[in-house]
Amino acid sequence: MAPCSGTAQQGAPGARYQRGSMGDVAEERNLVVVEDDPNISDLLDVYLRDAGFRVLQADRGERGLELVEQHRPAMVVLDIGLPDIDGFEVCRRIRAKSAVPVLFLTARDGEIDRILGLELGADDYVTKPFSPRELVARVKAILRRGLPDTRDDASIVHIGDDYVIDVGRREVLRRKESVPLATREFDLLAFLARNQGLALTRQQLLDGVWGADWYGDDRTVDVHVRQLRKKLGDELPLATVWGIGYRLG
Ligand code: CA
Repeated sequence: MAPCSGTAQQGAPGARYQRGSMGDVAEERNLVVVEDDPNISDLLDVYLRDAGFRVLQADRGERGLELVEQHRPAMVVLDIGLPDIDGFEVCRRIRAKSAVPVLFLTARDGEIDRILGLELGADDYVTKPFSPRELVARVKAILRRGLPDTRDDASIVHIGDDYVIDVGRREVLRRKESVPLATREFDLLAFLARNQGLALTRQQLLDGVWGADWYGDDRTVDVHVRQLRKKLGDELPLATVWGIGYRLG
């Protein structure tokens, strides 16, 4: 993530600009919510506005894309079942142009694997029914993650002979070939790498990677570990430690 530089005031009170990793300028407190159920959408509007965000609502995928294009929000909250194009397609089209964080709202368990499996670059997901407070906490956590972490700048971690993690560049190399990872997958790998040789519980991983205000369960860790193994291959020394969790190296 690029340093947060070039902040400037805009006409609207409290609005702030942040230079993102793509060099684009995003309004930090604007959120686009794409959700066709007006009850959920209005509820989110109330809670998110109460938390200081400006909420732009879209009840269709195409409208959501327009709002993202026009307003360059700090984040997109995206339902999957929409009347025109579904949330997966919306995310794909957003990703073609922007690295804005996307938080999916999912109605079915099966959608979670699809979110992760398609490598859409989703930053998080919330399963319906959810509490609005939980969702606000997730939104804040994702935006906090977007801030530069100078601790990790320029740190290079070697795992075995085959893997190198460049934390500053958020890049993973396997035998010198770059392997694209989703945001959370990278964060999980980097966290395991910082604690190489230690068996970490799923709860420690949830706290360290997803944050203490994450409401997910152990399954989240397992799904991400599965993805890491799939993408990085069998030589990755990421072991399951029975009764505890996982250990890298
Ligand atoms: Ca829906």
